[in-house]
Amino acid sequence: MAENSGISWTDNTFNPWIGCTKVSPACDFCYAETWDNRFGGARWGPKAARTRTKIRNWNKVRKWNRIAAEEGTKTIVFCASLADVFDNHKTILPEWRADLWDLIRETENLAWMLLTKRPQNILKYLPSDWGEGYANVALGASAENQVEADRRIPILLDVPAACRFLSMEPLLSQVNIPSGALGEGRISYLIAGGESGNEARPSDPFWFTSVRDQAITADIGFHFKQWGEYGETGERVGVDLAGNVLEGRTWTDRLPIST
Ligand code: SF4
Repeated sequence: MAENSGISWTDNTFNPWIGCTKVSPACDFCYAETWDNRFGGARWGPKAARTRTKIRNWNKVRKWNRIAAEEGTKTIVFCASLADVFDNHKTILPEWRADLWDLIRETENLAWMLLTKRPQNILKYLPSDWGEGYANVALGASAENQVEADRRIPILLDVPAACRFLSMEPLLSQVNIPSGALGEGRISYLIAGGESGNEARPSDPFWFTSVRDQAITADIGFHFKQWGEYGETGERVGVDLAGNVLEGRTWTDRLPIST
């Protein structure tokens, strides 16, 4: 049931609040900031206040949960595409986070993907009943290059979770994922893709085949979302034409969460 997301590895996208600050090279041409600027939001940067989304937006999540229960399906929800859910900005109020955890707890037919570029903040913001992790939550970190992979992956692995994933999107270099990080009970899902947008940076096909092969070797799910602006031949052809075929086929595994 893909209601409102154009992102191939999720069914729906939910933003509890909007706004962020750039923290690493993957943020350089942040599509969310571009979107916010277009609408005059001014919610990016350390001095900019984040804003909470409206209650009707939050209630949509409850509807997805009801439908998933009726259909007996597990609907994937990506949180958040216009923010970083573990951003520690002071304008993100504790009650916003408490309400988000209540919503996640309540919607047990949804599989939540909480993706961050700030895994160092995760422990601070987990709810007191987190234990070994909620069964319906996958925690993920972005790893767009070797520096961020080496920095973020060990931190992610130290946080208890029912499921963990890596987002290598936009992938900006070849990355050797730290030894032992991938596998059942560790990081069990890997997403990769190239950059889109006016400022998109070209990628090398080897970067993608390399991380795919690392996922296959570890026997975990792999999802190649897109080439981005530059296709497999290295030519700038636009996202649609470039597509998502990598070495003759698509790679579209879904999040391996089994609640
Ligand atoms: S963390 Fe995500 S939302 Fe925040 S600036 Fe970076 S790319 Fe944009």
